[in-house]
Amino acid sequence: MKNPFRVNVSMILRSGEVRREVRRAEIADLFVTGSEVPVGTEVEVDLALAPVGQAVEATGTVRARWQGDCRRCLRRVAGSLEGVVREVFEEGHEEGETYPLRHDEIDLEPLARDAVLLELPQAPLCQEDCLGLCPDCGVDRNSGPCSCAPPPDPRWAVLDELRDGD
Ligand SMILES: [Zn+2]
Repeated sequence: MKNPFRVNVSMILRSGEVRREVRRAEIADLFVTGSEVPVGTEVEVDLALAPVGQAVEATGTVRARWQGDCRRCLRRVAGSLEGVVREVFEEGHEEGETYPLRHDEIDLEPLARDAVLLELPQAPLCQEDCLGLCPDCGVDRNSGPCSCAPPPDPRWAVLDELRDGD
C-alpha cells in the first residue's frame, strides 16, 4: 500500500507556490513511558508546504489522540495532543536537523512521528489534584480516605508540583 504521508513536491518546487496538505494515517509504535497513541488511531498532519530554494519548508500542526495511566492512581486517562512544527525537507539532509527530499518526494511520516513522541505526556494525571493510591493499603484515595493513612501531607503536594514542573 502506498504511504499516505508521501507527498510529491515537484509542483511546489517548480511553481514556487505554497500548498496545503492534510494527511491522516496510522503510525506504528507511537509510545513513551506513560502514554501511547492507541493502535488503530490516526495521526493527522495539517501543513503548509513552501518552497525555499531547492528545499521545502513544512509549517503547521500534528494531532493525535493518546491514552495512558494516571501516574498516581493508575486510572486510565486519555486526551489529545497537538504539536506545532516548522521543519525543512532537503536533498542531502542533515540527520537531526532536516528531513530528506528525494526524487521530488518527501515523506511526512518521520516528521509526524517526531512531533507526536515529543508531545506524548510522560507522566499523565487523571486530574491535577489526584490523590493517588494509599501506599499502605492500596485504596484509591480519590474515592475517599482509607483507614490506615492520615490525609496527605500538604508538603508532599509542593514536592510533587516541583516534580511536575520539569
Ligand atoms: Zn489519578
